[in-house]
Amino acid sequence: MNGHFSAVGDKSAGGSYDHGVQVIDEDKEFNGNLNDYLQNTHVAESGFNYHLISVFGSQSTGKSTLLNNLFGTEFSVMSETERRQTTKGIWMSKNKREESAGAKMADNILVMDVEGTDGRERGEDQDFERKSALFALATSEVLIVNIWEHQVGLYQGANMGLLKTVFEVNLQIFLKDKQSTPRSLLFFVIRDHLGTTPLSNLRTTLIQDLTKIWSTISKPHGLEDSRIEDYFDFGFAALPHKILQAEKFVSEVQKLGTRFTAGHRGNKGGDDQLEGGLFLPEYHRRIPADGFSVYAEGIWDQIVNNKDLDLPTQQELLAQFRCDEISREVLVAFDLVVAPLEEQQGEATKLGKILVLPDLGGVGSAARAKLLGAFEVQASRYHQGVYARKRQELEAKVDARLKALYMGQLAAAHKAGVAAFSDAVTSKVKAGQKAGGGYEFAEIVANEKQKTLGIFKTEAQGLAIQDLPWTNFKPQYSLFEAELDEVSGKLRKEEMRRLATRVERWVKSRLGEAIGLEFNKLGSGRGGTGAPETGDKPGEKDLWDRVWGVFTGIVKEAESRFADRAKSFDASDEEAEVGMWRLRRKSWVGLREKIDEEVMEGNILLKLRENFEDKFRYDEAGVPRIWRPSDDIEGIYTKARESTLTLIPLLSRFRLSTTYAPPDLVSFVGGQPTGVEAGDEEDLAPIGGVDEDEGKSLEEEMTVLSESKRQDLVVRFKKTADGVYVEAKRSAIGGVAQ
Ligand code: GDP
Ligand code: MG
Repeated sequence: MNGHFSAVGDKSAGGSYDHGVQVIDEDKEFNGNLNDYLQNTHVAESGFNYHLISVFGSQSTGKSTLLNNLFGTEFSVMSETERRQTTKGIWMSKNKREESAGAKMADNILVMDVEGTDGRERGEDQDFERKSALFALATSEVLIVNIWEHQVGLYQGANMGLLKTVFEVNLQIFLKDKQSTPRSLLFFVIRDHLGTTPLSNLRTTLIQDLTKIWSTISKPHGLEDSRIEDYFDFGFAALPHKILQAEKFVSEVQKLGTRFTAGHRGNKGGDDQLEGGLFLPEYHRRIPADGFSVYAEGIWDQIVNNKDLDLPTQQELLAQFRCDEISREVLVAFDLVVAPLEEQQGEATKLGKILVLPDLGGVGSAARAKLLGAFEVQASRYHQGVYARKRQELEAKVDARLKALYMGQLAAAHKAGVAAFSDAVTSKVKAGQKAGGGYEFAEIVANEKQKTLGIFKTEAQGLAIQDLPWTNFKPQYSLFEAELDEVSGKLRKEEMRRLATRVERWVKSRLGEAIGLEFNKLGSGRGGTGAPETGDKPGEKDLWDRVWGVFTGIVKEAESRFADRAKSFDASDEEAEVGMWRLRRKSWVGLREKIDEEVMEGNILLKLRENFEDKFRYDEAGVPRIWRPSDDIEGIYTKARESTLTLIPLLSRFRLSTTYAPPDLVSFVGGQPTGVEAGDEEDLAPIGGVDEDEGKSLEEEMTVLSESKRQDLVVRFKKTADGVYVEAKRSAIGGVAQ
């Protein structure tokens, strides 16, 4: 797969991680498989609960052997017969032991075996030594320095060169990262310890050497007076000769193994500054295990390119990278739940269907909580500032989607609610009408509104998420309520129309009877002749006064019925005004139709004839006349005919006898109320004199018979009267002849 990673133990080549993983190869390339290895060994999921150790020392001083014995690792060891370098670059392996000498070791110890660093194999290549020291310092909690006993005190020894390098690069890192540079433990493991010199003496010698080295390195400005103890803790251990004292070697290594546990700073100042285990919390680099590979790669990249190592920046970059990665991961689960809902909603919208998704609030908030919870668990281990920002970004992203979904949901609930409300009211009204009209419109509307609002409220509250202001859907609720009121208004208007139609019908039928009765009175001329030139009998002279009186009486009654009913369904005064205004107009038109019907040629001629016959055939006392030849038939005829003829001009104009003027129709109808809306007037016939711009005057409106019809009526009536007269004449002669 990758030519660089051909060494044994690389999974890409060998298919397993038995020998660990090569982090940096001999060409100084970083191995991208590191994360795979950490996943494979379940270290990746351990958060901060892992430890990193690096081992340093000259070539072939038994470093790999030590690690393999301590941790059960399988780093390559130089065979006893051929002496050449085996460890190339930097290898890493997880501790394979759970316990040592019966004591439990720390979880997830990662060990890095660093290529022999005395430069012997690489000639004068001090470069790699420096780079790997930098890499180890930036990542490891404990640096094991492996050293022969006989090297101790040899200040010029190769190991001392290495330590100088370590100190220098540490200062370099410290310059960039003043706040958080953690301390490291330099843990000296003295090999082939003969036992003649006690460890404490060796320790003293080593510390003297270290102090000497420290004094020789050039320190950056401001750090001239710094002491080595400001940056490092020291630990010491000695092991017997592996081959000469094989058994003791094994048991001492076991003992040493017990020290790889959590520890704390001691205060009794023994051999080491540590009590308990070697792993002090302050040594930890605080890189979450799942981000270690990315972090290590970034560090190595900077080192290889000879850039100043800036750990805080690296940690921020790592945090950004990992937070983005974690965001993507947690969004997958979120998508699994939310994307199908978004799709369904989008589809419904496209098709114009109303879709209210069941339990959307529950599903949405659970998905949101799960996502943020999962994000927090993993991402909060990273740089706090970056974490907070990325969390906000993620929240904004998720909330934008939920918001769109929730708004769509409420829009659907709104539409569904309005339709259900309108349907329910309409069908209840219909049922009420079928059952005989005994229903209360206002009550139906109020009940249905309450019910519909309740459903909407439940939906809106179901979508609410605590502490999220955008999930307060009060404005949507208000909007919904406003629309229900608007729909109620429309339905009420329809109800008003139905009521108006009923009342108009009632007015028409009342007018039909009452006005017919008034006109019928014309047919009776009995009860005195009076002044022949005017119709002065009841039903004659004051015909229009009575018609007007009857008409206004009926309309008044109708208006009060209408107003009562309108009030019962909560119509506004304005709406009632409009309804009554319409009613008055329609009633007037109805009256005019009724009058036109009464004065239709045949009808009126018949009435005039009856009127005339009554006057002609009956005497003052109302007794029928038996014509005798001696009677003044002609005189009576003329008087009766003239009397009836006076009715024709009276009939021609709607005029009140008291004022000789038309009734005050304008006041009666009243001005157009302010509440009139488009459509309210559409079905209204214009009324002369009332609707000024109609071009018809009140005089014309009040004209019942046109001039020509009037003349025509006179001629016809005279003919009819003449006929009656001739008949009377004949009967008088006939009566004599009998
Ligand atoms: P490394 O190069 O430092 O990793 O050394 P190795 O672990 O490969 O060992 C180098 C050689 O030293 C091998 O031949 C080992 O057998 C030998 N060796 C290992 N441990 C010891 C020890 O404790 N004492 C001595 N004298 N030789 C050892
Ligand atoms: Mg080795």
